[in-house]
Amino acid sequence: MSRKPIIAGNWKMNLLQSDAKALFEGIKNYVQDFSAQDLPTVVIAPVFTSLAAVAPEKCDCGCGCNRISVAGQNCHWEKSGAYTGEVSVEMLADAGCEYVIIGHSERRQYFGETDEMINKKAKAILAGGLIPIICCGETLEQREAGVTDSHIASQIKAALEGLSEEQVSGSVIAYEPIWAIGTGKTCDADEANRVIAMIRGVVAEVSSQSAADAVRILYGGSVNPGSISEQMSKSDIDGALVGGASLKADSFNEIIANTMKVAV
Ligand code: PEP
Repeated sequence: MSRKPIIAGNWKMNLLQSDAKALFEGIKNYVQDFSAQDLPTVVIAPVFTSLAAVAPEKCDCGCGCNRISVAGQNCHWEKSGAYTGEVSVEMLADAGCEYVIIGHSERRQYFGETDEMINKKAKAILAGGLIPIICCGETLEQREAGVTDSHIASQIKAALEGLSEEQVSGSVIAYEPIWAIGTGKTCDADEANRVIAMIRGVVAEVSSQSAADAVRILYGGSVNPGSISEQMSKSDIDGALVGGASLKADSFNEIIANTMKVAV
């Protein structure tokens, strides 16, 4: 089954509006030389305050800017109300987002995001017509204790609880071993592929085989221009969620280029 690759850049809490705009332009200038068909799905996730600086730059004028999709880095599951500091799916859509990252390990670790909250967010995102990028991953301690697979299976089952087959098929999952995030220690590509194939098996179990075949599952954790080719050559890895290397147009564009060489 052929799944369109995704290269998603998580800019985390970085870049002022002018920097975000400049980085966006650097990516836009690069991707406009390729057809949308040849490119992977390119997604960037700026901070909320920069959405207004980059999203209006997307248009259907044929200049290439519509080859980049924009993601929120988080959302709340309620539509509006007394939730100081939060942002709703409708607000993200209004700001031009098509995707929302949820369950990132930094949100789980520093902001107490639970599996239950991630499930509520996934449902709200899909109900609002956007696509969730659902992150999962194990700590080094969990890996060393031999509970990687059971931990990730339980994260995925909780995140997908109550979603229809169609909703699961249209979602994106990112396997991000926590020990590989921001450390320069990329997970061995065969091992990342094994875990991602295991996740696909969990999706088949809780949803259907056709949803498991359709859902796009990314690897994340110190992805760089040198690592992406091998990662993309693996059967079950459908792309990458990129942190540090997405903050420079040169390295992010090279990741896109190397993805096209292998996968599309
Ligand atoms: C991330 O935070 O999603 C990530 C994968 O970061 P990095 O690429 O910097 O490891």
